[in-house]
Amino acid sequence: MNIILFGAPGSGKGTQADLIVESHGLKHVSTGDILRKAVRDGSDLGNQVESTLAAGELVSDSVMMDLIRRVISDISVEQGWLLDGFPRTEDQSKGLLTLLDELGETVDAAIDIFVDNDEIVRRLSGRLTCDECGRVGVAENNANNTCRNCKGSMRVRRDDKPETVLKRQKIFRARTRPAKDVLAQEYDVHRIDGVGTPTEVAQRIQSVLEQINQA
Ligand code: AMP
Repeated sequence: MNIILFGAPGSGKGTQADLIVESHGLKHVSTGDILRKAVRDGSDLGNQVESTLAAGELVSDSVMMDLIRRVISDISVEQGWLLDGFPRTEDQSKGLLTLLDELGETVDAAIDIFVDNDEIVRRLSGRLTCDECGRVGVAENNANNTCRNCKGSMRVRRDDKPETVLKRQKIFRARTRPAKDVLAQEYDVHRIDGVGTPTEVAQRIQSVLEQINQA
């Protein structure tokens, strides 16, 4: 099964992605995580994108297409993938559709997690992310700011600072909505209410996936 997950930064997309890949045995392709790891590792890709990530801007379509081609081509059709954070522009959607044609693959489900803007800004201002493993937590639950997973330091992500959050939301509205529209010309995009506990949102997504599987 191949799934695309849309959702603004702070919509809970990463949390839901983790739950879906676990229950469906899919390969999780988070372009944000891949890029952040490249920056941490100091690879050529990391050096190339570091300042773009810190500014909350989008990495170029050509870099992203090269990355996604490499990653998707390495995942077996039997396993399937979940894309989290890609496509984010109209050209990335078009590029993805062409790539899938070439590979003889399709998208089984496209899910859009919707949360309104005020709620997103509120959520992101309390979000901490582990420097080492990328785990996400909330400020008040991590008084000593040590990661429960790997004992790394939990910090506000450079691109989660309030002014950068607003910029990322603006970019999301301007660039990622059109990306969704391009995909919607080929596939149904199912809009899910992203307000509620992670379990509630996961149940909404699961019922859409079941309907698709039964169709
Ligand atoms: P995310 O964790 O998905 O919010 O991504 C973090 C950052 O990585 C974004 O603000 C962009 O700078 C970059 N990024 C991730 N995915 C993409 C993409 N598909 N296109 C361009 N830039 C991306």
